[in-house]
Amino acid sequence: MDVQRRKDKESQKKAHLLIYALTVFYVMTYILIVLVNRLSLMGISMSSIVGLDISVNTLSGTLAALGGVACLIMTVLDWRVGGNIAMGLIAVSTISVFLRVFVDGNINLMVGIAAFALNFLSVCLCRYGMKKSDEKADKDYLTGLANRRCLIVDLTALTKGGSRFGMLYLDLDNFKYINDTFGHAAGDQVLIEVADRWQEALPKEASIYRVGGDEFIALVPKTENKPADFLTKLACEMIDAVADRKFGGQQGDKYVTASIGIVSYPKDATDPELLVRYADVAMYHAKNTGRNKWGVFDESMSHQIAREYELEAIIREAMDKQWFYLVYQPQFSAGEKKLRGFESLLRLRTDKGEFVSPGEFIPIAEKSDLIFAIDEMVIRQATRDFREMINVPGNTLSLSVNISAKHIVEPGFVETVKKILEEENFPAGSFEIEITEYCMVESMEKAIEAMNRLKELGVILAMDDFGTGYSSMSYLSRMPIDVLKVDKSLVDNIGEGQKKENQFVNMIISMGHLLGASVIAEGVEDESQLSLIRAAECDYVQGYIWGRPMELDLATELIEQSRK
Ligand code: C2E
Ligand code: CA
Ligand code: CA
Repeated sequence: MDVQRRKDKESQKKAHLLIYALTVFYVMTYILIVLVNRLSLMGISMSSIVGLDISVNTLSGTLAALGGVACLIMTVLDWRVGGNIAMGLIAVSTISVFLRVFVDGNINLMVGIAAFALNFLSVCLCRYGMKKSDEKADKDYLTGLANRRCLIVDLTALTKGGSRFGMLYLDLDNFKYINDTFGHAAGDQVLIEVADRWQEALPKEASIYRVGGDEFIALVPKTENKPADFLTKLACEMIDAVADRKFGGQQGDKYVTASIGIVSYPKDATDPELLVRYADVAMYHAKNTGRNKWGVFDESMSHQIAREYELEAIIREAMDKQWFYLVYQPQFSAGEKKLRGFESLLRLRTDKGEFVSPGEFIPIAEKSDLIFAIDEMVIRQATRDFREMINVPGNTLSLSVNISAKHIVEPGFVETVKKILEEENFPAGSFEIEITEYCMVESMEKAIEAMNRLKELGVILAMDDFGTGYSSMSYLSRMPIDVLKVDKSLVDNIGEGQKKENQFVNMIISMGHLLGASVIAEGVEDESQLSLIRAAECDYVQGYIWGRPMELDLATELIEQSRK
């Protein structure tokens, strides 16, 4: 936004410079016209002045036409500044010629007045056309609401005005699902209806703008005389305006919910761009606490944004300077403690020795799309590290990597996996991909399709963090999953006397078996957890009790021992 605004300002400056140059040019042509006519009245011929055999009328006509063209160019460059100057110049010229008709009694000059009038008319028409198209550019083509450009203009004006106002950042929660399921035309129809509902729900003095695909911003001016909870109440009304209502289109009922972020001027920020960014952050917070909610911006969120920016810079630098490395955590059969394989886990250590945990950097990498490059790097490094140990006759060990669910639905992902496995000479049957169920909710159909294609390659598929509950049974039964990993948070809760928690984990394990998958319990730390896991007939164990994530040389040793 900032860059765009700077560019706009620069090109506006250039246009204004050109307009001033054209104004000087116009004044000069006008002076020349007057001069030529004066000299001709004094009986001095044109050929003696310009060296050409040319009549006074032709010469003044040509100069007037050039002046007219200059006026039109000014108007096109900037209909406000250029158009106004052009109209002013033509008006002054017309009046002065008009006066001379009376003072000099030169009726011939009436022709000049007609020419100026025509010139004036064409500038007016051009100015009007430019104004209309500018107004159109301030509108969103789909919903007819004002657009982002318009928002910035209004927001800047409001911040300059100085009185308090509020901003709501509105975002639909499941719009991607509607687009994916019903198609883009249906999605557009939903957006139009949502825009109408929100426009109706807002108080008269407020305005709403469409600023992105399914993102809207509402500006609520003059909040100083309103009750303290005015904005949050309004956010509730905006949420209610769309929640639990059917939206149009022929291919079935569509429901949408919205998440809203709230900021106040000047309490949260005074800079227009910061206000928008903070409102966006507050909206994301609301979304993360479970969608269909509003959230008010607070100070701690700005610290979080600062940290996110810092982390993104660290990740970029880490890619560049190879601060990433992999560790491998062993998995064993629950009964005999036989080595099953390893899960690769990514680590980041900066050149200053600062460790950043994947729990912190992976979500940032996902947000900024850096995850695509990271996942590829991990697949390549892990397969390279393990290929010699895996490529032995009778090998039963597997190597798993974590892949962001956002990545597996990306076009070309399956081909990338295939290519790396071929290039690194790694057997697909020993390669496992772990995906979390939670991220797949948004585009389940696409995820299932990608999983099926991965299965065709021969890759093993594992569902990570299972039991944290997002997928419905109907989706799960359609997924070609080989392994389910019971989430560590569930294993953390089990133990003697934890009847309910133990039963829940039992049920999750049985469910995995029912779906035809093997089950790995993750995060097993002590004997009591282990015995409960064994009693529940869980197939494999991955946890500190039997092995922490380790560097490659230790993993190699473990493999060698297991093969003795
Ligand atoms: P995850 O895939 O669920 O990985 C398991 C996490 O639990 C790992 O944390 C592991 O060190 C930890 N863990 C395993 N057993 C125990 C235990 O007994 N006790 C305790 N306290 N922790 C245990 P880590 O390495 O910090 O990874 C966190 C998450 O970051 C992973 O969760 C995964 O979602 C993500 N991640 C890690 N490496 C990668 C990667 O290469 N690519 C992607 N896309 N995500 C990764
Ligand atoms: Ca994992
Ligand atoms: Ca997990």
